[in-house]
Amino acid sequence: MQKRGFLLILSGPSGAGKNTVLDATREMCPELRYSVSATTRPPRPTEQDGVDYHFLTEEEFKRRTEAGEFLEWAEFCDHLYGTPLGFIDDCLEQGHVIVMDIDIAGARQVQKTMPEAIFVFLLPPSMSELENRLRARSTETDEAIKHRLNRALEELKAGINYDYVIENDIVQESANKLRSIIIAERCRVRRSEYFEQLKDIVGKRGGR
Ligand code: 5GP
Repeated sequence: MQKRGFLLILSGPSGAGKNTVLDATREMCPELRYSVSATTRPPRPTEQDGVDYHFLTEEEFKRRTEAGEFLEWAEFCDHLYGTPLGFIDDCLEQGHVIVMDIDIAGARQVQKTMPEAIFVFLLPPSMSELENRLRARSTETDEAIKHRLNRALEELKAGINYDYVIENDIVQESANKLRSIIIAERCRVRRSEYFEQLKDIVGKRGGR
């Protein structure tokens, strides 16, 4: 019997350190699957197509949206971002845990269509630290940084029904917490193979 996998959504303001925490977690848990998003944002110097993102033209992104190829999609600071559905479906069928880094608007859509997904919010230690991190990245203009900081404030205020929150002070500690969440979620009764087998046995005996 194949256990169905689950989705773990990591959201949080830009600059909270989602990528760094995800990289450290994936190093400890190589069996995790990572959903590579599609975007119309131009690649940053170190980013690779198909690895960090699928970089698409706006026309191609819209075509895929209309064809229903995204689990969710959202506009973030003038660019479009979306999660390809095919990869998610295949991984869930094969029993994998998939981690996704998406914004709050996207997380809201997933909460509607896949309420069984696990939602984790990553907090920066403070707003000034958030600004330092965005500036240290040196990939955005002053205007774009301001835009991202405003958006971060909105995201912090928005809050949806997250299952867990992690304050990202020390990356390795945050990654350890994320790994613990994944292990605990794997042990949930409703995901347990034994529970399924027990249900089968009880079913065959007519519920007695
Ligand atoms: P960045 O441009 O810094 O890579 O990402 C900007 C924001 O877009 C981040 O908050 C990130 O979580 C979000 N994002 C990345 N991929 C997706 C996606 O597939 N869907 C949604 N809704 N947001 C995404």
